[in-house]
Amino acid sequence: MNVDKVVQGGTLVTPERTIESNIAIKDSRIAAIGESLPLSDETEVIDASGKLVMPGVVDPHVHIDGQNSRDTYLTASRAAALGGVTTCINFAWQGWDEAERKWGDGTLSESIDRQIRKGSDSIIDFGLHGTITRENDAVLAEIEPLVDRGITSFKMFTAYEFGLSNGFINKLLGVIADTEAVALFHTEEESVCATLTAEQKAAGTGDPSEYPSSRPDYAEAMAADSAVRMAQAAGAKYYGVHTSCEQAAKVLAGHIEDGTKVRAETCTHYLARDESAYGTDGTLPVIAPPLRTPRDQEHLFTQLAEGALSVVSTDHVATTRANKEVDNWWDTSFGANSLQYSLPVFHEEAVNNRGFSYPFLVRTMCSAPANTFGMQQKGTLDPGTDADLILFDPDQKQTIDAADNESIADYSIYEGRTVSGKVTETFLRGERIAKNGTITSDPGYGEFLKRDIPNWSV
Ligand SMILES: [Zn+2]
Repeated sequence: MNVDKVVQGGTLVTPERTIESNIAIKDSRIAAIGESLPLSDETEVIDASGKLVMPGVVDPHVHIDGQNSRDTYLTASRAAALGGVTTCINFAWQGWDEAERKWGDGTLSESIDRQIRKGSDSIIDFGLHGTITRENDAVLAEIEPLVDRGITSFKMFTAYEFGLSNGFINKLLGVIADTEAVALFHTEEESVCATLTAEQKAAGTGDPSEYPSSRPDYAEAMAADSAVRMAQAAGAKYYGVHTSCEQAAKVLAGHIEDGTKVRAETCTHYLARDESAYGTDGTLPVIAPPLRTPRDQEHLFTQLAEGALSVVSTDHVATTRANKEVDNWWDTSFGANSLQYSLPVFHEEAVNNRGFSYPFLVRTMCSAPANTFGMQQKGTLDPGTDADLILFDPDQKQTIDAADNESIADYSIYEGRTVSGKVTETFLRGERIAKNGTITSDPGYGEFLKRDIPNWSV
């Protein structure tokens, strides 16, 4: 067997352990792992000495070219490639017209079609979640055909103008359960958040340090409790997005028993920043749910290690500083960009600062998201799977500077932070897409991923 590439001399990281070994790549897949691999004159040897060789990061929660994010697939995927992210899952919003930037009459299937077309210039692989925004029974008939097209997860909100009532969520969950797809939930109790927000507006307290109290932790936990109860009654797979606080994580943990289908993520920013950021950075870190307390941060790490949380995502949203920096927090554009720096920042917080292992890093950022969303060929170094891998130098320091952003976002909530650890090379299906901070892939190398029905019993 002649192989195309051999990654030599590095430390491989799997979900279970680290191994000093080499990896051979052939025809876009991982061909073998071992000490002595078959080299020929044509084999490219990639020197990984002093570096970690990990699966490419799988980010199951990004916003690209959609309702709340101005990145194109090209700008977002270039940021991702530099940050070691080789696969993401974006959202297709039922009824959102990206060209007009307003809500229209489009169906969920039409938004999926449009996102697949838009993604034609991506340089990383991407899947799509269907986001259901209307209480219209017509969407019920769209779910099964979309699952057949590889859209094996559907997101619902309990808050905002596109949030759904519990009654309609309950109805949807029955259909989603029948297909064995995943139901994703953004949980915040709408009437609590809306009333607190209205009070702040009436009082004129638009200072961003007041923002967290408008979307409190108990509101997140209350809505999570309702949604997870309905999912369990329906027998649907429940996935809680951007879990931000101890109260919500404990609600989910309380519903998990052997065999129950409850999983959840937190995001890098909830682990790396706390609510004091609103005093120092103003409206730039305004996201929903808000950044919480240091106590919440430590609890999220505990739940990631041995509890209800299994995935770390970015919830990447790109907009400009001009849209973020406004006088009153309620007028800002919500969200934060982090595809380019999520891995090094999480590495700093988890491994360097708290002593978590590299296999923990790979479980939470690579294998768990891939398994949770039906992508068995991703997030792993197993022979036969896609050769999506990154070289990571744990000792190389970098200072985060938004001037280096490939995303259209011209700011970073990690601006000026120096972290130890940097992605030096990124490979997708065996091809190098980034090296030493430079993109080496042409637009369009990334592919739309038809995802399988995930098996959550393993
Ligand atoms: Zn999001």
